[in-house]
Amino acid sequence: MKRIFRLFPVFLLLSGTSCQTRIPVEEVLLPRPMQIERQRGNLPLKEPLQLSIEAPDTTVARLRHSLPACGLPLDADLRPVHSATPPRPTDNRPTLRLRIADDARLPASEEGYRLTISRRGIELSARGEAGLFYGFQTLRQLHDRYGDRLPALEITDAPRFAYRGLHLDVSRHFFDAEFVKKQLRMMAALKLNRFHWHLTDGAGWRLAIDRYPELTERAAWRQGATWQAWRDGGQRYSRRGDPQASGGYYTKEEIREVVACADSLHITIIPEIEFPSHSEEVLAVYPALSCSGRPGTTGDFCIGSEATFEFLENVLTEVLELFPSAMIHIGGDEAAKTGWATCPKCRERMRREGLTSTDELQSYAIRRIGRFLAEHGRRMIGWDEILDGGLAPGAVVMSWRGEEGGRKAAAAGHDVVMTPGSHCYLDGYQDNPTTEPQAFSGYLPLRKVYAYDPAPASMPGRERVLGVQANLWTEYIPTPEQAEYMLYPRLFALAEVAWSTPEGKDYADFHRRALWLTERARAAGYRTFDLAHEQGERLESLAETDHLARGCRVDYAAPWSEQYAAGGDGALTDGVRGSWSYGTRWQGFLACDVDVTLDLGEIRPLREVTADFIQWYSAWIWLPRRVEISVSDDGQEFRPLATLTNDYPEEAERPAYRAFGWQGSDRGRYIRYRALRNGRPGGWLFTDEIIVR
Ligand SMILES: [Zn+2]
Repeated sequence: MKRIFRLFPVFLLLSGTSCQTRIPVEEVLLPRPMQIERQRGNLPLKEPLQLSIEAPDTTVARLRHSLPACGLPLDADLRPVHSATPPRPTDNRPTLRLRIADDARLPASEEGYRLTISRRGIELSARGEAGLFYGFQTLRQLHDRYGDRLPALEITDAPRFAYRGLHLDVSRHFFDAEFVKKQLRMMAALKLNRFHWHLTDGAGWRLAIDRYPELTERAAWRQGATWQAWRDGGQRYSRRGDPQASGGYYTKEEIREVVACADSLHITIIPEIEFPSHSEEVLAVYPALSCSGRPGTTGDFCIGSEATFEFLENVLTEVLELFPSAMIHIGGDEAAKTGWATCPKCRERMRREGLTSTDELQSYAIRRIGRFLAEHGRRMIGWDEILDGGLAPGAVVMSWRGEEGGRKAAAAGHDVVMTPGSHCYLDGYQDNPTTEPQAFSGYLPLRKVYAYDPAPASMPGRERVLGVQANLWTEYIPTPEQAEYMLYPRLFALAEVAWSTPEGKDYADFHRRALWLTERARAAGYRTFDLAHEQGERLESLAETDHLARGCRVDYAAPWSEQYAAGGDGALTDGVRGSWSYGTRWQGFLACDVDVTLDLGEIRPLREVTADFIQWYSAWIWLPRRVEISVSDDGQEFRPLATLTNDYPEEAERPAYRAFGWQGSDRGRYIRYRALRNGRPGGWLFTDEIIVR
């Protein structure tokens, strides 16, 4: 580990901002510290600070390397005053005093710290090197905001959670080692400390394994520069050096460099090797490891075959050499399991082991790998499917399908990392989906990430929650610019959820700090989302809509779906409109037309009948093919008002929100609104309100 220990990784180029002492210090720091006490006066940084370090020799050596990069004016002679020798009394210059101490006034956590700034100088104390490191991140933000006139204060700080993570999928699109290091530097500035590296998946293997060269000769390369092009082209793989080949992988040298960089930033890298599914790329080049023995048939390994375990253990042996992390992620999610039920080898395994279902077969595979890792002094972590069919004690569960898996695992005595799709999947839209770049599904604005609490007081077993993690899946993220755009500022919110206590949470206050940090991140070369120009939630959903049919009875010729009831029979006339997210107040109709009749109670003059629909390709929700609106006085005989057709392309993956309506002059009591589906099998129609004026 020869890399220089860098304390102030991100905002190195940003010092020298103008004096800003009037800004309250509470409005500066992100994540918000545990306790801030502002005191009178300032520390002008006009002359170099005298340095004193009280710490073990190894820490002193690392600090000496890094201090020149800290941005603060320091004595040119960086020989630290070792041990508790105070600065020479004749010298009135301010000091920078760094201490590692077992001091009762310090937070119990090794990651906690106490930072005091006064006219006499700066004192930073912690129980461990990580605490000093995080104290420096705080000092760096203060220096960045206040320039060379630091406000006098005392900060006592420690993290809420020990696990504060970011996940990056480098399989769907490959991101090089420099990009990863750049994000690690931002993570450190945000006091995040776990990087979950999703190194393997069907769209490409990304890690050199000496024993299995085909993984990087072929499985790391595909036909199709983007994930979408690859998917639409039949998911074909390629070969390194082929002119059509797209992809890449990390050499072992690069991995060691990234691991060393992370180590210097107090970040642990948790590698993920997907098993027993999401492994199409492995089975394309080593088809003997699948049940069928033929390439291109499945993403599941054959669990009946000993060769599968031999392969995985050989791979993991090389992985363990590269990554010192105590936890190793083995995936475990979304196995189809269909091949296992009919495979003679899998059936034989089930018979021998007394397993009665394919869930139990998966559990067998997971336990076996968990044992292998334990024998090598490591701990297994996996997605919440590893609970299916029973899980070995000691395994850590990452709850992604909502929080249910995490709650179940915690109740069963497992440690848990919370990363539910609803709040932690940063691949969803962060603003108006009709104007944002193509993303995966869902609407996850900054406000919603910030609102998340991974371990609320009401949660049984909450002490089992190690922490929280943001995930960046990259199906729709083909470039490094786009990845940063999706990460920031939402990762700022996740960092505060992970570090700060939920008491005193205030979005308006956070938003001010996030705006500032976004601006600084942009100045430092991160291509963030433009938070200053966020459009926000769909306007229609913010206030109720009043209209003639509000509260009127609705008869359904075909039923709404229980899954997206949005309030049931009254949903289409309750005045409440859907938000950008189709999961809220939109009523869903599965594999049928919308065919409803409204009763206005008496014959009324009419000038408008309209309803909004949405199209969300990735969720298989479509705009109607045609809409027919008709009116009646008696509910028996209807006369047409309008027939409307849809001109938005079915294959358009960008979400669309469209009104289908009639305007004119007429009268009537009953209004029939029919929206005809486009006929795609299993397709949905979603609408939120039939508005009559
Ligand atoms: Zn099999």
